[in-house]
Amino acid sequence: MSHLVHRSLHADPPLALRGEGIYLYDQSGRAIIDGSGGAAVACLGHGHPRVIEAIKAQLDKLAYAHTALFSCESAEELADIMVGHRPGGLTHAYFCSSGSEGNEAAIKMARQYFLEIGQPERTRFIARRQSYHGNTLGALSAGGNAMRRAPYQPLLSPAFSHVSPCYAYRDRAEGESDEQYVARLADELEAEFQRLGPDTVIAFMAETVVGATLGCVTALPGYFPAMKAVCDRHGALLILDEVMSGMGRCGALHTWEQEGVTPDIQIVAKGLGGGYQPIGGILVHGRVIEGLTGGTGAFMHGHTYQAHPVACAAAVAVQKVIAEERLLDNVQAMGARLEQRLTERFGNHRHVGDIRGRGLFWAIELVEDRAGKSVFDPALKLNERVKMQAYERGLACYPMGGTIDGRRGDHAILAPPYIATAAQIDEIVDRFGEAVDAAL
Ligand code: PLP
Repeated sequence: MSHLVHRSLHADPPLALRGEGIYLYDQSGRAIIDGSGGAAVACLGHGHPRVIEAIKAQLDKLAYAHTALFSCESAEELADIMVGHRPGGLTHAYFCSSGSEGNEAAIKMARQYFLEIGQPERTRFIARRQSYHGNTLGALSAGGNAMRRAPYQPLLSPAFSHVSPCYAYRDRAEGESDEQYVARLADELEAEFQRLGPDTVIAFMAETVVGATLGCVTALPGYFPAMKAVCDRHGALLILDEVMSGMGRCGALHTWEQEGVTPDIQIVAKGLGGGYQPIGGILVHGRVIEGLTGGTGAFMHGHTYQAHPVACAAAVAVQKVIAEERLLDNVQAMGARLEQRLTERFGNHRHVGDIRGRGLFWAIELVEDRAGKSVFDPALKLNERVKMQAYERGLACYPMGGTIDGRRGDHAILAPPYIATAAQIDEIVDRFGEAVDAAL
């Protein structure tokens, strides 16, 4: 009997004993393809020698020095890699230990920015329904995942309100063009600014591609520029959460590059360190930093393990491997193959309503009937069934159940490592297809 608080208190999960390349090995010695990198984390796969070497070398030199007095070489190098070339005007990086912590830092920095520039009346955030920004209370307040929020609703901050995500599969009206749908969403955001009082809004927050809550939902072309225009009109910031969808997962290092906007603050995690160490962070636009330096000159926030030397060393190695081995080319090529294979396998499947994603970040949405898009009964726990059927077939994937607001069906995400080969992509889709059929 385990003394560990597992995600489920009813069953002990299998043990993952070791990992190599795209494979995890469980206690029976069986090889399991890590077809989703956990939750889109293991972008380099497992056991990469360069990353392991970098971690060991950092440990030999320095494991920890408190940031109240010191910076360290690996954190400086990582910041340099991330923003030294000022992508989109982002000039500074803050590193923490997770995506939730990154969201907390983004929320607090955005608030502090307006305090410092003399706009203390800005106290509100507008985020989106059916989104996820993390499980700590600030990040959970920002998120719109009804199921995750429900038990903690009385503890969540009223500083956050929510508008609709860009979810064309379900929310675009009959006969509505892409442009009309995007314009309607921009109007909805504008109306929310007006309801709150435009001068009270700090920022609009969104996942650039919606991850676990909806399953790889990309925005329509023009959506992010339209939302940014609303923010600009009212002097509010744009905060983009790329914890799951960024760091190359969608084929560009930053997914906003594909959307035609630059965020004021970007949140990164998962693919930053590829799971070799717990690390997240925020990348901050120069104008926000200027606001902070013009005021108290300090970010009134911090954690004991921020910019941790070993975590930063791991992330430096991960990012160097991605750049030097030109892995984003592989993400694009294998992403196209994954899309093609998924379309062949599920394009006419009577229980697959939508196949969507970008790069090596793809999901299928499961529905009871395709025409009506009706969702399966959540009591069926389809997500658990898909997960275990896949595991039995030697595949780890990332299925999610329908939300309690019934606004979407179950979905399952595939997010293979950036090193995946064509044969491995085919194998992943074959096993995934069998698992879905067996689960339904
Ligand atoms: N933001 C997004 C978009 C995520 O997908 C996640 C995790 O899945 C988080 C934030 C929270 O990250 P973490 O679990 O590392 O705290």
